[in-house]
Amino acid sequence: MAETIFSKIINHELPADIVHEDEEIIAFRDISPQAPVHVLIVPRVEIATVNDIRPEQAELIGKMVLTAQKIAADEGIAEDGFRLVINCNRHGCQEVFHLHMHLVGGRQLRGISAG
Ligand code: 5GP
Repeated sequence: MAETIFSKIINHELPADIVHEDEEIIAFRDISPQAPVHVLIVPRVEIATVNDIRPEQAELIGKMVLTAQKIAADEGIAEDGFRLVINCNRHGCQEVFHLHMHLVGGRQLRGISAG
């Protein structure tokens, strides 16, 4: 897999506003936030897209969701609610090919449209 900008953030070669870090996962604020809270939850291991997740990585994906849950609570948006999004490939508008989950909240979000 080609190295992405997220590898550099994971390796602390590029700065980011990191809100969570552990042995398997790093989370940092999106450089172009779409809402008052917009955090990217990223596994350290290089997985390009959802299509590349292997069955033995199911626990890691679960940890990404639990990390999002914790950050939402820390950010004070758990009660009002939020959205978790993983974009995949061209039709999903994926830009960075290192798996990541968007945690978006802090305002009323619009419903997901077909377009
Ligand atoms: P995607 O479209 O791949 O799901 O989302 C990639 C996200 O990464 C975008 O929301 C974009 O704003 C964010 N992003 C791209 N480059 C950087 C960066 O260098 N730093 C941070 N913090 N976010 C980035």
